[in-house]
Amino acid sequence: MKAHDGMYIDGAWRSAAGRDTIDVVNPVDEQVIGRVPAGTAEDVEAAVRAARAAFPAWAAIAPAERAARLAALRDVLVARKDEIAETVTAELGSPLKFSQNVHAGTPIAVAGSYAELAATYPFEEKAGNSVVHHEPIGVVGAITPWNYPLHQIVAKVAPALAAGCTVVLKPAEDTPLVAQLFAEAVDEAGIPAGVFNLVTGLGPVAGQALAEHPDVDLVSFTGSTAVGRRIGATAGAAVKKVALELGGKSANVILPSADLARAVNVGVANVMSNSGQTCSAWTRMLVHRDQYEEAVELAATAAAKYGERIGPVVNAKQQARVRGYIEKGLAEGARLVAGGPESPREPGYFVSPTVFADVTPEMTIAQEEIFGPVLSVLRYEDEEDALRIANGTVYGLAGAVWAGDEAEAVAFARRMDTGQVDINGGRFNPLAPFGGYKQSGVGRELGAHGLTEYLQTKSLQF
Ligand code: NAD
Repeated sequence: MKAHDGMYIDGAWRSAAGRDTIDVVNPVDEQVIGRVPAGTAEDVEAAVRAARAAFPAWAAIAPAERAARLAALRDVLVARKDEIAETVTAELGSPLKFSQNVHAGTPIAVAGSYAELAATYPFEEKAGNSVVHHEPIGVVGAITPWNYPLHQIVAKVAPALAAGCTVVLKPAEDTPLVAQLFAEAVDEAGIPAGVFNLVTGLGPVAGQALAEHPDVDLVSFTGSTAVGRRIGATAGAAVKKVALELGGKSANVILPSADLARAVNVGVANVMSNSGQTCSAWTRMLVHRDQYEEAVELAATAAAKYGERIGPVVNAKQQARVRGYIEKGLAEGARLVAGGPESPREPGYFVSPTVFADVTPEMTIAQEEIFGPVLSVLRYEDEEDALRIANGTVYGLAGAVWAGDEAEAVAFARRMDTGQVDINGGRFNPLAPFGGYKQSGVGRELGAHGLTEYLQTKSLQF
């Protein structure tokens, strides 16, 4: 795999300040496939300075021109789609077809949506005797995770650029190669020097330096709740805007009138895709007690089919963590009906697609985010009980409701404390705001709501 040994700062690949590097490992065979520089506070400093210098000109150009640059960026991503998919497969381990459709396909759709929004968004509006201008916030520090490595980058950089902000990106240490490829795409798209900058490195070093930098106006972070809490506290102390996309423990609520087989099969596919490393995955399946055993059997059969096809999790630490949760499920008395803690193959960081039945709402596996291919099936007595269980975690990122009648599903969804709900298997929409209630985060990404995160208002009275 191609790897740059420098940082993309101010429109060029520049030597890193220090000599430390990060090995990039293929999770399928545990082989080192590349090496990138481990950035320091000095690299972050150079990148923030470049972003600050580029900000006034980028903020001042017509939104239509920014839209044209974003459309060019989308076109480069389209042209390099295969390379993107191969890179994500190499560093994340996801099956190539999934990388092509999702890891490469979704960022193209999102970049395209912001090329359009930049051209059409009302950056100026009238309110009585005032004109309200929506102005870019300034320099954005973007910190992203590895689970959907390019999507997470584009979901921050595209709206920030559309708004007129400039960006310093610190991508996850496990998946820096696709971030470098993205920097090449930005360059090819003719986006001016300094508007986008990349610093690879470790979270507690480069990430922290970026989050704490006084000349960063907004920190947009996606990752774990633990790190998000720290970043939020730092931003709060500096009176700085922050956007946090954190964890989830979403509920897939199957009401008695639903098509049970379809709801279970789609639900299992949702949890197993990307090896369970999806923050919005419906990891708790809620089934009425009369249909419970049938649903458990269907889920176990569906999960077993993923045994051969599923990719590994991202690294050894995640593998150990997920297997630890499976052990914990067993220790707390849940009934294992598929998979288990044993590694299904070696080498590689593989985890068996696992399904637990007889999971009760207070069990650890029903409360904490596992971030692996593990599904918990819970039994409910009636609709009120289902709602209590669905809303009974600290998270509120996503969810699903299935019912024979769409209106019945919608009525239930409206009572869920969560940011997104798919009705009877509704499809992903790149324009729908994505983000959490409760401890799942602060702020929204995607679509027009994602754009407004990077804007602030100025009112002129006449
Ligand atoms: P993580 O929080 O450890 O890392 C995320 C990013 O933060 C990485 O780039 C990392 O280098 C950086 N980081 C780590 N420590 C830092 C610090 N002290 N200061 C600044 N930056 C720091 O999370 P992870 O393990 O890489 O990702 C998995 C988690 O992310 C899961 O909990 C998952 O739910 C969450 N996630 C949420 C969403 C969402 O949209 N809500 C999306 C993807 C992942």
